[in-house]
Amino acid sequence: MSQSRDRAPAPPATRALSPRTLTAQALGRVAEPYRDLVPPLHASTTFERAGDGSYPGGRLYSRDFSPAYDQAEELLTTLEGGHQALLFASGMAAATAVLQALEPGQRIVACRSMYWALRNWLVAFAQQWKLDLAFYDNADLDGMVALLREAPTTLLWLETPANPTWEVIDIAAAVSAARAGGTTVLVDSTVATPVFSQPLKLGADIVMHSATKYLNGHSDVIAGALVCREDGPLWQRIRRNRNLGGAVLGPFEAWLLLRGMRTLQLRVQQSAANALAIAQALEGHPGLVEVLYPGLPSHPQHAIAARQMQGGFGGMLSIRSTGGEARSRAVTARLQVFKRATSLGSVESLAEHRASVEGPGSPCPPDLIRLSVGIEAAEDLIDDLKEALAD
Ligand code: PLP
Repeated sequence: MSQSRDRAPAPPATRALSPRTLTAQALGRVAEPYRDLVPPLHASTTFERAGDGSYPGGRLYSRDFSPAYDQAEELLTTLEGGHQALLFASGMAAATAVLQALEPGQRIVACRSMYWALRNWLVAFAQQWKLDLAFYDNADLDGMVALLREAPTTLLWLETPANPTWEVIDIAAAVSAARAGGTTVLVDSTVATPVFSQPLKLGADIVMHSATKYLNGHSDVIAGALVCREDGPLWQRIRRNRNLGGAVLGPFEAWLLLRGMRTLQLRVQQSAANALAIAQALEGHPGLVEVLYPGLPSHPQHAIAARQMQGGFGGMLSIRSTGGEARSRAVTARLQVFKRATSLGSVESLAEHRASVEGPGSPCPPDLIRLSVGIEAAEDLIDDLKEALAD
């Protein structure tokens, strides 16, 4: 039975509205029969079948295509300018649904600097699944192109800006290099968010988000999302993986996610403004070796970021303290306003000594403190960091 999941992502009348309006109003939908402005929570796992065997509601079973996903998926599709979005139980579930859609023997070219847990999983999975996996340096476009030319490549994986050092990859240049070999381009755009960057409009094929981060934005939902530019065999295999692999989001989490997304634009703009203010205030600080933030002109890929990210450079930055790991841990321990916790993209600011989270073998510099900047008053955050650095 085909579930009614392929309808147009958004009514044409809403397309002319600004993303801010569409996001705040969650596409302006109202729900029948009470005309609710907030969608009801669809908890049902199963749907009634008519006597003739058909499904008048268009749904069969909610392991896949729960009505609870519709509005969040359609909003995300609209914001990314894509064909269709799929929600998953986590960002990792979204990523693994793509990688498990590949065939043994196929080649992936992936950036070396990426979310650490995903890279570890990818290395192990490539061995198990007999994938040909090659890594390029995020800052080395020529190196990426050389790997694409070396052998036919099925998937090119980009994370930009990339965890936890925030290198920026030129998506349009990567797409043009990949096109020649028919390579699918996926961008993990968790940190950029659709507010600052729309990779599908630059020609990428799939956008991935850990929706746990900015899309939800309140540290209370684990979720993931994929958005495709157009339908095709790979996307169909990914859809099958969600349906039959079963890494699906619960209806309450989907409801919370849509609620969080309504304030996405304001939250990420404020986080990015705060992050820029912090980066500017700390650059050149005698207690720091380096401030890593794509919004600083000193960032090696600042020009690419300025072209590719509209309206801001994101809410993530890292600082590298003098005195190596010991001082970096001590600085983190002295923070009062920043919360010492992992994750990113929420309204509250978080700090973490990243190398100790990533564990042995991590390429993260041992003196690096990762900062996820929230929406608090920038001066409180700057004062907190300056006090922690004043030893
Ligand atoms: N991608 C990035 C850039 C991330 O930062 C994370 C999580 O930290 C993930 C993917 C994985 O997402 P999740 O934790 O929702 O599974």
